Parts: sequence; structure tokens; C-alpha cells
Amino acid sequence: MKKNFLIYLLLSFFLLTMGGCGTTNKEAQQNADGQKLNVVVSFDAIRAITEAVGGDHVNVQNIIPSGSEPHNFEPTAQNLATLQNAKLFIYNGFSLEQSWLDKSLSTVSDKIDKKELTVVEASKGATPLQLDEKADNGTSLPDPHIWLSIEGGELEAENIKNALIQVDPANKDDYEKNYQNLKNDMDQLKQEYAAKFANSKRKDFVTGHAAFGYLARDFGLQQNSVSDALLSGEPSAKKLKELTDYCKENHVTTIFVEDMVSPKVSETLANEVNAKAVKIYTLEDIPDGMDYIAVLKYDLDKIYESLN
Ligand SMILES: [Zn+2]
Repeated sequence: MKKNFLIYLLLSFFLLTMGGCGTTNKEAQQNADGQKLNVVVSFDAIRAITEAVGGDHVNVQNIIPSGSEPHNFEPTAQNLATLQNAKLFIYNGFSLEQSWLDKSLSTVSDKIDKKELTVVEASKGATPLQLDEKADNGTSLPDPHIWLSIEGGELEAENIKNALIQVDPANKDDYEKNYQNLKNDMDQLKQEYAAKFANSKRKDFVTGHAAFGYLARDFGLQQNSVSDALLSGEPSAKKLKELTDYCKENHVTTIFVEDMVSPKVSETLANEVNAKAVKIYTLEDIPDGMDYIAVLKYDLDKIYESLN
């Protein structure tokens, strides 16, 4: 009896330990497999491209929260805290983040030195459009809105793909596949709209701020805007008068309205020149439920409609 009990105890202990070990191993395995790569990006457009390329493997957070205007942004300590758990930080470049970038990266310099955090400039290798606006030291500034160009967006997607592979080589095949799918979709958009815009009656459009310089260049169009590319100040009365006269003289039928850039001014202008006010997205704040391709296609569609 005593012996049987001992065997029972031993057996129970053995089974429990086995069961315990089995479960623990399985859970550990699932965590390792299911763990997403923590990526921090500067703002919505870079998030949208990173999510398209990263797919299920990435967990993406913004420094500049959705709904905040990115041109004159100053991050808080809370915004920057996201960098502490990140393996990869991706910013646009072309001066968009320059007012806060160096200072912010200095808060995680030890992580960067130890190669625990990789920092990537998405626009690296692109040719910038130079703006009329000058920096404080008198040098000319690049137009940051490269993500609204199809070629520019493809280049950013490729840089982001390479960065993801560098930091997370185990999922290389998926990143390559996602990037190729995105590129195919973008190539198709480019082809479709190049043909459409070539046959458009007019080639000019009016928007909230001059964010569409690259897009206009790609398709041989001309943008006019209420505010300049860098939103460096409120539009002057003189500028608004010129724009109103331009719209009347050229029979502009659509004024594009951006959520974050003086939407009231654009709507008033539309009223005054008897034009339709139509929403457009600069991807600086992406509407819920839309991804990168969906927004690009929406914009191209609306611009095309306005030209015919
Ligand atoms: Zn902008």
C-alpha cells in the first residue's frame, strides 16, 4: 500500500512536471512566433507605407499623433517615449522632421550606439524639389511631400522594405512580397492616371497647402494653394485676393479642402468663386479605414474629376 502510494506520488509528479514543461515550451514558442516588430515612425504617411510593407509582422506607432499637423510639430516627452521600445525608427526626411529630429534621437543615443535601435530616412536617394521658402540660414529647403508622388512613394517603400529586412531578416520573404504587391499597385495607378491626365481638359488645381508639388510634377499638372508647402504662416489678404482672381479668371470649378489646413478658408474661397469644395488628403492625417493605396487613388480620382 505504502509502495503503491509512493509510485502514485512519483507518477503524479512526473506527469505534472511533463505537462508543465510542455505548456511552458508551447507558450514560449507562440510568443516568439507571434511577437511583432516594434517600429516607430514620424507621422501617418510613413506609418501607412510601413504597414503596407510590414503587414502582420509589424506594430507601428507614430511620434506625431494622427490628427496633428506635422509641419510645425514639437514632440512631447510622451510622444518620444515610444522610441524606448522600438527596434526601428523611420522618418521621412527632406526637412519635415528637422526641427525636432536630432534632439529627439539624442534621448535614445545609447540604444542607437548599441545597435538596439536602427534609424532610417525613408526619402534617402530621392531627388528633392526645392521650394522658394528658405531656411533661417538662407539655404533653400526641399519640399517634404515626396510620399504623394508615386515614384517617391515607391522609393520610400523600398527603403522601408530594406530597413525591415535588416532588422528582422527572418521575415524577409514576406517583406519582399508585400513590397512587390504595393509597387505593382502603384505602377498600375501611375500608368492609369498618366493616360487620364494626358487627356484632361485642364491641368491646374487649387488646394489648401502646396503639398502636391511632386504629384503635379509626375503628371504634368500645376497646383495652386491657399498656404505654402511648409505652412510657414497664415495666408495674407493679398495672396487670397490673387487666388480668388485666379479662380474666377480661369473658371476653376473645384477647390480642394484639407482637414488640417485652414478648411474654413478653402470653403469660403469655394463659395466666393462658385466652385465645389471637395475633400483631399495629403496623407499627413489618414482617414480611418483607408490605407496608402486607397488614399493615393482617392486623390488622383478627385483631381482627375476636377480637371474635366
Ligand atoms: Zn504638408
